[in-house]
Amino acid sequence: MQYDTLIVGAGFAGAVTARRLAEAGRRVLVLEKHDHIGGNAYDRPDAAGVLIHQYGPHIFHTNDKEVYDFLSRFTKWRDYQHTVAANIPAADGGRTEMPVPFNLVSLRLAFGPEKAAELEQKLLDTYGAGTKVTILQLRQNTDPDLKALAQYVYDHVFVRYTMKQWGKTPEEIDPAVTARVPVFLSEDCRYFQDAYQGMPLEGYTALFENMLRHENITLRTGCDARERLRFEDAPAGGQIYFDGAPFGGDVIYSGPADELFGCCFGRLPYRTLDFKFETYPQDVWQSHGTVNYTMDEDYTRITEFKYLTGQVLPGATTIVKEYSRAYTGAEDEIPYYAIANDDTAALYARYAEKAAHFPRLHLLGRLAEYRYYNMDAIVAGALRLSDALVKQ
Ligand code: FAD
Ligand code: UDP
Repeated sequence: MQYDTLIVGAGFAGAVTARRLAEAGRRVLVLEKHDHIGGNAYDRPDAAGVLIHQYGPHIFHTNDKEVYDFLSRFTKWRDYQHTVAANIPAADGGRTEMPVPFNLVSLRLAFGPEKAAELEQKLLDTYGAGTKVTILQLRQNTDPDLKALAQYVYDHVFVRYTMKQWGKTPEEIDPAVTARVPVFLSEDCRYFQDAYQGMPLEGYTALFENMLRHENITLRTGCDARERLRFEDAPAGGQIYFDGAPFGGDVIYSGPADELFGCCFGRLPYRTLDFKFETYPQDVWQSHGTVNYTMDEDYTRITEFKYLTGQVLPGATTIVKEYSRAYTGAEDEIPYYAIANDDTAALYARYAEKAAHFPRLHLLGRLAEYRYYNMDAIVAGALRLSDALVKQ
């Protein structure tokens, strides 16, 4: 089979472009390093039969109808509105659980009805009902009551969780990161407010299987593309080689940008995660799909998969604890989170510039673009890129 397009990675970036280009008549080869498809969104049944997400909990949410409609061709959806509780040590020695994002319900739990009513009035007068205010914005407020509230939320929800996740305080990281979980002046306790949210009814892996099942797509799993692709740089335009022969078609790469070029300018830093899965002989283990440990414990959060998937399996449930640490580049580690700051942007720009020497090489996805993207943003980018390539 002669291929006119090579795609590295069978996550959302790779699978969506593969499908779109295959439908436009391209003959596509997808190379995937893992022995499975789906990238970070891969799910599978564990030994107890519980459907787990091997690389951490994935909840689909988007306001982009085109993305939702495209994915809906490959899956039906289970309506699921994710809720998260912060687990906080209480004054009486017990634990309190309050909604995250911190909202008007959390406010009442934290301060009691009377004080909460006063604070609520001030918040609504200042920002307006239904507003989302980031913790860093709230901390700028000079009103003594709102300042004290901001300090409470900072201390009880953000600072320690952020230290665990990033090894830095909220002030030391890109403000866009904590802005993902703003204080919400509402009683809506859902984690996301997007128009479309839910879980693929048969799971993510099934969605990917359906998407990649096409006569013009060939899939090779367990294949590190770096062993088959070579990039020869030249001032007048670089040449890509596939299995030793010049390759003139498009190459869409969704792995880490630095690894593509042997980390020649130095490694891009990432955070990686260790996942600890535990199965219990009971129907339900915790109160919400995800419980964040915002004050103590070494892990950031615990997710119980059955909440997300809706799986009915009496007498067994599986949870996962997430531990964050610096990515070192070791073979068994996976880079999960790009670390956005001026230094990493400058380093990434050098790799992007090198990639631009190869006119038909396209960097796409969370790793290749070194961005903190949700799944829907990846799908949107993949649709844009494949449509642009088809029009060429
Ligand atoms: P990936 O899924 O990382 O896929 C890249 C693929 O390329 C991988 O399969 C990799 O093995 C392969 N690859 C890399 N290098 C090579 C190579 N040299 N040769 C062959 N193959 C290679 N988003 C949401 O919208 N909702 C959520 O709830 C959510 N939860 C998340 C939880 C966690 C813990 C993490 C880490 C991310 C979460 N995300 C979530 C983000 C989501 O995982 C990503 O947006 C999305 O999966 C990225 O897709 P991608 O195709 O860009 O990358
Ligand atoms: N965050 C926090 N406490 C929480 C939830 C989030 O401090 O209870 C901060 C933390 O810095 C985290 C960021 O907000 O990394 C984004 O959270 P999100 O849940 O979006 O992270 P993800 O699911 O992508 O890991």
